[in-house]
Amino acid sequence: MSLLLPAFQKLLDEQHWKRASQNLVRKRRPREEGTLPLVKINGRTLINFCGNDYLGLSAHETVINAAKAALDKFGFGSGASQLVSGYTILHRQLEEALAEKTGRDRALVFSTGYMANQAIINGLMGRGDLVAGDRFNHASLIDAAIISRARFKRYPHCDTAVLTTLLNQHNKGKKMIVTDAVFSMDGDIAPLEELSAIGKQHEALLVVDDAHGFGVLGKSGCGALEEQGLGQADVPLMMATFGKALGGFGAFVAGDADLIEALTQTSRTLIYTTAPPPAIAAAALAALELLGTEPWRRTKLRELITQFIRGATERGIPLSGSDTAIQPIIQGSAESALNASQYLFEQGFWIAPIRPPTVPAGTSRLRVTLTAGHEPAQVDALLESLAIALEKCRN
Ligand SMILES: *Cc1c(COP(=O)(O)O)cnc(C)c1O
Repeated sequence: MSLLLPAFQKLLDEQHWKRASQNLVRKRRPREEGTLPLVKINGRTLINFCGNDYLGLSAHETVINAAKAALDKFGFGSGASQLVSGYTILHRQLEEALAEKTGRDRALVFSTGYMANQAIINGLMGRGDLVAGDRFNHASLIDAAIISRARFKRYPHCDTAVLTTLLNQHNKGKKMIVTDAVFSMDGDIAPLEELSAIGKQHEALLVVDDAHGFGVLGKSGCGALEEQGLGQADVPLMMATFGKALGGFGAFVAGDADLIEALTQTSRTLIYTTAPPPAIAAAALAALELLGTEPWRRTKLRELITQFIRGATERGIPLSGSDTAIQPIIQGSAESALNASQYLFEQGFWIAPIRPPTVPAGTSRLRVTLTAGHEPAQVDALLESLAIALEKCRN
């Protein structure tokens, strides 16, 4: 029998019932072994098509060896926050390498992207300021804006006309525009050049979250900003994470030296949290170097994306126009996404269903992500099963 206080019990029961009736209950599936993209679940081997390890670096020998060497040298935990004693020469080297790679004055490492975004928005914005964000921005940007107590306005997806109106209406305090570069649930890319011009025109600081572009896009893997030729003068502050294409864990913010110094002094998500373990920094540093030395990973990923788009089109699988490794197949109801995901799971493909509140109601989807760790034959096999799954699980 539950010993929960009645007020909690009643609320939790109601919420659970509501989630269950709408097919919105989430389940975590523990992976038992295997390096990505092959995973073992319930004793069965599946091909993972819902991870963000875009370049297959999480299983790269060089990355693993760098982490091991750091473990041997520094032990596991960092032991304190960065400003106390948790910061090591590996964190410093990583920050220097990131600044150089991105062509920014300085970079600052955070434990997670969620926290980096908190630092940026909550650290720089407050009462009387305006934060304008794309409606499809990542939840971490939304939460950070809410916590900052600034006026927070969301503009329709990529709608720069509405954004301009919002900026025009705000005449006191500071202004900030925040956007994902590659939108995490849709895979499309923000109109960054235009946003940069609008930012300059309205004296609004443009912040770009390139979690899904960094490592993947751009000639040297430096992300969406490199691809579009946008430097620090165009985008004063950028962030990206190590948890996606770099196959690791953690994040960084890079940009103007004064901004970075201010964040170092004031970020609550930097000051009041334990520094990332040194091995995490070493792994990120190794992965960063691999962006330069193994460009074939980006080429291979690009080829798999092309193959997927072509194959889906041939089979009448409805795509959304994304050109990146994130390929959503929007089905509509949570039930059909859940059923299609289940069918694919039985066929040996792991694609988690994405449902509200992660995406707007009525746009539940299978979000396929491709990685350089996949093989062309696996993508073909996926397409075969996907076509059947969609046929079986119509709305
Ligand atoms: C994953 C992600 C984050 C959060 O990064 P973590 O390091 O996983 O906390 C932030 N923004 C975007 C767009 C993301 O996709």
